[in-house]
Amino acid sequence: MKQREETAAAQGSGADQPIYFFGGEEAEGMAIGDREERRRLLGGKGSGMTEMASLTYKDPVSGEEGGLPVPPGYTITTEQARRYFDNDERIPEDLVEAVDRYQARLEETTGKTLGDVDDPLLVSVRSGAAVSMPGMMDTVLNLGLNHRTVEGLARQSGDRRFAGDCYLRFTEQFADIALGVKDETHLKPLRRAILEKRDAGDVSELGLDDLEHLTWEYQHAVLEETGKPFPQDVRDQLLAAIEAVFRSSYSERAVFFRRVNKIPDTVVSAVSVVFMVFGNRGEDCATGVCFTRNPLTGENVVTGEYLTNAQGEDVVAGIRAGQPIEEMENDSKLKDAYQQLSAAQDALERHFRDAQDVEFTIEGGRLFILQTRDLGGRTGRAALNIVTDMVEEGFLSPEEAVLKYGDPNGLNELLQPAFDSEEEERAREEGRLIATGIPASAGAATGEVSISSEQVEVLSRRGHDIILVRHETSPEDVNGLHSALGVLTARGGVVSHAAIVARGMGKAAVVGAEGVDIDEQRGVLRIGEETITPGEVISISGTTGEVFMGSMPVAPSPIKARMAGEEVDEDGERLYQKFRQLLDWAREHKGLQIRCNTETEEDLKVALSFGAEGVGLARTEHNMLIPEERRTAFTALLLAQTSEDYQKALDSLRPVMEDGAETIFRLLEGKPATIRLFDPVPNEFLPRSDIETARVAGFMELAFEEVRHRSVAREETNPMLGHRGVRLFVVAPEIVESQAGAILTAAARCLKEGVSVRPEIQIPMVINRTEILKVAETIHDAARKTMEAEGIEIPYSVGVMVETPAAVRTADAFAGDLDFFSYGVNDLTQTVLAISRDDTGHFMPAYEEHGIVAADPFSSLDPIVATFVEEAFEKAKRANPDIFVFASGDLGGDPHSVATFHNMGLDGISAGPWLVPIAILAAAQANLKYPREETP
Ligand code: ADP
Ligand code: MG
Ligand code: MG
Repeated sequence: MKQREETAAAQGSGADQPIYFFGGEEAEGMAIGDREERRRLLGGKGSGMTEMASLTYKDPVSGEEGGLPVPPGYTITTEQARRYFDNDERIPEDLVEAVDRYQARLEETTGKTLGDVDDPLLVSVRSGAAVSMPGMMDTVLNLGLNHRTVEGLARQSGDRRFAGDCYLRFTEQFADIALGVKDETHLKPLRRAILEKRDAGDVSELGLDDLEHLTWEYQHAVLEETGKPFPQDVRDQLLAAIEAVFRSSYSERAVFFRRVNKIPDTVVSAVSVVFMVFGNRGEDCATGVCFTRNPLTGENVVTGEYLTNAQGEDVVAGIRAGQPIEEMENDSKLKDAYQQLSAAQDALERHFRDAQDVEFTIEGGRLFILQTRDLGGRTGRAALNIVTDMVEEGFLSPEEAVLKYGDPNGLNELLQPAFDSEEEERAREEGRLIATGIPASAGAATGEVSISSEQVEVLSRRGHDIILVRHETSPEDVNGLHSALGVLTARGGVVSHAAIVARGMGKAAVVGAEGVDIDEQRGVLRIGEETITPGEVISISGTTGEVFMGSMPVAPSPIKARMAGEEVDEDGERLYQKFRQLLDWAREHKGLQIRCNTETEEDLKVALSFGAEGVGLARTEHNMLIPEERRTAFTALLLAQTSEDYQKALDSLRPVMEDGAETIFRLLEGKPATIRLFDPVPNEFLPRSDIETARVAGFMELAFEEVRHRSVAREETNPMLGHRGVRLFVVAPEIVESQAGAILTAAARCLKEGVSVRPEIQIPMVINRTEILKVAETIHDAARKTMEAEGIEIPYSVGVMVETPAAVRTADAFAGDLDFFSYGVNDLTQTVLAISRDDTGHFMPAYEEHGIVAADPFSSLDPIVATFVEEAFEKAKRANPDIFVFASGDLGGDPHSVATFHNMGLDGISAGPWLVPIAILAAAQANLKYPREETP
């Protein structure tokens, strides 16, 4: 009890306290009850720096113990950001006072003062929201410089060039971010001109005079653009930068990023003001990014890059080529820091219990950590290796592994194809390998080249498969990346923008490909020897980094191959075993029963080996039960008018129905099988040509003209709402008799051979109890007859598919008469929203854009449809607590929908066979977060 009060008090203070200090010996934010809340208030960066400052770490070089080496600073909470917006985008007075107070505290801790002309304190003003949005919001470095303090910095450091470099960087960022004088349009041209004049590749090659001149030019541009001189008052600079970072929460690219990643718009940035440490102060200084494990493969080897004598984003921006992190060990000036970094990484992984993505800076041979976050953008394969390895290494439990795997869709990626290695070999032999870059995001893509992000958007909307080719990408390219199948860049490494974004989106990426040269002016591209015009097809492999001319066929994933019983190599086998391991853990922790939809015999086998616990939906009008060669008979059934017509069609269909059902029962070995009675959309099955009409006429022994006439008459204006499902059976009970008879005869055959069976016969598209009872009666009759004829008792059950609002509303009336029902979520969505799934193309994108729907309701359970699901569930369970209720449709592969079904208390779901792993993992994650008392 006491503890709870303390937590509540801490949380109370969390919302009220506007700023939190960290560094030195302090980590004020640790007073905030839990990590979630800390992240919410301090953002990822602020809470990360706070936790790093608080955790225990032993410096391997000095032997000292203490927090991780984080430069001191303070974080203004996201609550304050919200207050800023509520206050017409002006910083409230009391917040200004709090900033002054914390700034004084930072000055006390560091012994330096902002604006001191002899030894100025410099800070960075950094963004950071609760949800990671890498590169989406803004940060200003080296704040505190003006014409006078820059002199002080030069004197104090004894390095004029360093001071000039800092001032240039600050001017550039502050002008762009705080003053709205955009780099792209106003500053970059000035920079380009000097670089060209000096024939220099980047600013680091310029002399001091040029740096100073360029700084002057930037500031002059500010005066021209804003009519005001570049601010010299350092306190004004600080407040303006804080405001700018607040505002960057709603920058165009941040808004777009949130929309694409389904992050609510209320997620805004906290602001961290951090003591500057300098990676650009000589050869014993550096800046870098490292991943504690490889984000592509998940291997437990440090991956990353660093640059000596550089600052901040230099590595990520790919302006200068970085060096692989391992090389630090061989640099006498940096090898101590390398040791510190290795020790820090270990401490970080153990503390955060996950692989980390770390930003660091080395000043004077000493390591500082600027940021850490859970390693994002990992491939499905990397996530699998990381969590299973961490369990093996002994610091994660299987439950944590299930949760930390992250988005269950990563499992799908593991089942995705890659280029066929033989085809790749052949392409190499044929000389089609035109470049090799750094493999940055797994997957294989073949598509038309485009060199403009805007073009990609337009073309992909028209259905083209596009590979975006750029020098390097920036946040402006995010829309283009989103629409492309894959991305190829000339520059950058595994931590470049293109690499990070592509991994997050699960797209193939090859970066830093030498020999890729884009002539934007002429709109052509050279890759190696080849000149390529946009529209030509290339293929890229994000697994090998290879770029091929022309298209390339793809090969299935090793896991998929292994599941199909094929031989795979050692790596493939290991991966497969880990995949199984994770699924085993997930199965132990889920609450929902996971069944599969039947597609083919092969797929059913696969689903069962993934761990499907039964069949949730066998559509009798399709594949396994009515193979294509019986289509004529099935069409005849839909055109039947006399009882002879019906009998003839059903007699022809019956043997295949029996065989199909028997196959299912044998594979299931006693697991439940929901077999749905016919539910064809009639128009789809009517004759499509004279030849088909003639074939049906022959079968029915009717005149061609008669069949044509009936076909025309049977054509419906609204086939989705027409004479389908249960309505077929009310008109022609013989259909039900025959189907139920077939299913139960197959069951009897199995039973006689000792194979246990659990047939569940399902009536589709129902609207009320009278209708259900009429059809159920026929099923029971048929069952009685079958059991008599076979001389054996057959356990069977009867249920319905709930997919109309009417069935939802009347669920309490019929629940007592049934053993189960499932939601046909697709049709329920269609009937509730009156939107036809197959016709959403023209308006759904606009609906998503305007926020009318949060997501396409056919790919993620719509919240209104969810209320219908809940209503039927509650009504039915009240009337019949034993009724088994589950959801089927295409949402089993959508983790969000699975979690919703879990939270509602449903008994199960049914998913497409290849989505079963996702469904199992999503169900386990949901249950670990919100446990159920007992599993069904
Ligand atoms: P982003 O969200 O784009 O990563 P950051 O706030 O992390 O923005 O800062 C951008 C770059 O500047 C990063 O490389 C970071 O490590 C570096 N940086 C930020 N603050 C400091 C600081 N106080 N001293 C040195 N480098 C810093
Ligand atoms: Mg950062
Ligand atoms: Mg349906």
